[in-house]
Amino acid sequence: MLSIIQQQLRNPDKTAIIAHGHSYSFQDLQTGSQQFARTLLKNSADLAEMRVAFMVVPGFDYVRVQWGIWQAGGIAVPLCITYPLASLQYVIEDTEAEIIVVSPEFESVLTDYSAQQGIRLIVLGADDKPAPVGVLPPVTLSHRALILYTSGTTNLPKGVVTTHANIDAQVSTLVQAWAYSEQDIILCVLPLHHVHGIINVISCTLWAGGTVEFLPNFAPEKVFDWFAKIALGSQDGLFMAVPTIYFKLIAYFDQLPEAQKQALTASMATFRLMVSGSAALPVSVMEKWETISGHRLLERYGMTEIGMAISNPYEGERRAGHIGQALPGVQIRLVDEQHNDVAPGVDSPGEILVKGANVFQEYWRKKEATEATFTTDGWFKTGDVAVLDDSYYKILGRNSVDIIKSGGYKISALEIEEVLRTYPQINDCSVVGLDNEEWGELVVAALVVNDGSLDLTVLNAWIREKMPAYKVPRQYKIVDDLPRNAMGKVTKNELKKIFVVVSG
Ligand code: ATP
Ligand code: MG
Repeated sequence: MLSIIQQQLRNPDKTAIIAHGHSYSFQDLQTGSQQFARTLLKNSADLAEMRVAFMVVPGFDYVRVQWGIWQAGGIAVPLCITYPLASLQYVIEDTEAEIIVVSPEFESVLTDYSAQQGIRLIVLGADDKPAPVGVLPPVTLSHRALILYTSGTTNLPKGVVTTHANIDAQVSTLVQAWAYSEQDIILCVLPLHHVHGIINVISCTLWAGGTVEFLPNFAPEKVFDWFAKIALGSQDGLFMAVPTIYFKLIAYFDQLPEAQKQALTASMATFRLMVSGSAALPVSVMEKWETISGHRLLERYGMTEIGMAISNPYEGERRAGHIGQALPGVQIRLVDEQHNDVAPGVDSPGEILVKGANVFQEYWRKKEATEATFTTDGWFKTGDVAVLDDSYYKILGRNSVDIIKSGGYKISALEIEEVLRTYPQINDCSVVGLDNEEWGELVVAALVVNDGSLDLTVLNAWIREKMPAYKVPRQYKIVDDLPRNAMGKVTKNELKKIFVVVSG
């Protein structure tokens, strides 16, 4: 983002951000972020990669603070605004943040803690009065810019350090691949301490000169209202979300009166692009969304460590159940356990390795974890397993939780989930492997059902027709909801505990 912040503004009066009923121009963003950089630099000439944690409401302030930290030479550490103090402390202590910035609504959460720790607390509005901008320190592309914590789906979240060059690469490749433009307007419904919201939604749109509108709290009716509003305007509508959000939007849409459904379908048809990512998009959700919106969702694959790496094409076939091809400038390999490339084809799974300017520098102060995650010749090991199916990558899952090793077989939990979801009484499901002396791991499934009379014997007979016996779940458990993290991903290590309790 550094290049866009430092560039001469192309269109200073154009609206960059809409939030809380206000519009802010690119000039407002430029001035506001430079003034905030000055506030940060009150006692020093340069933050010199000092970590600045910030807990700021999504909207103009969020972007102004993030850009301000960068222009003062600091490393931005966004905090999740719904975390309890203990989780905030984990991030603040791990990064050794020396400054914390808060919106007034979060002041009380961090006042005592920051005083005890001797950390400077800046409350927006109160402690950052507009100041003359003056000269800001030089910041280069090799400066570290951001520490983002992974979603913690499989383990404790790790701090991922990216430089300005990494962010520029992540943003520019997506802007090119998905054709972002000044005409775009996007709705931000995602949390802003992860790549999806920060890079794909905010940074790419602003980089291209488009507008970001913020929705403070996700609610399906507000999203549909926004679709209807944008359809009446002259900008190109964009929407990007995680599969669970599409799932919730579909459930809400389904119970609307027919006339309203038709009107919304017509509104959504005017949009330029709708994208899904962060977790596997169930084929059923993709198909249903296409019937209600007219949009074939573009599914892509990315990580905190690499930004986006693989994407279905903007123009061309968007293949259900597949993540597409390598983005421009990103190199991808699939390798076996000895790091030899596997042959293309659905029968040759391999771990995804990534190389490119988009790839992060290091896990923050975790030298061993960093070394363990790169090959000696500099490829990043994602831990995700995929196949190359007729020139489209298809994810089989994470090596650690989705690839179930049972009776000498390697079984993809995602494949079994896809089959279970086609059963009429099953709304959602998650498949995991439980440790088992005899089999290594035992395939089991948690089911969210839409009909309490589901007969497991009938289900079992049905699934036996669909897949070989070794893939068939040995145990089912009906649950109200699946455990999920802030990005809507099923936390499978949590889920396993439910089974352990049940099976004693
Ligand atoms: P942690 O590393 O702490 O366990 P996490 O891996 O969920 O958490 P993120 O970096 O937010 O943290 O998520 C990246 C992961 O999300 C990828 O490694 C992959 O497993 C999954 N993912 C992202 N996009 C897709 C997709 N389209 N299909 C399947 N999985 C996806
Ligand atoms: Mg991860």
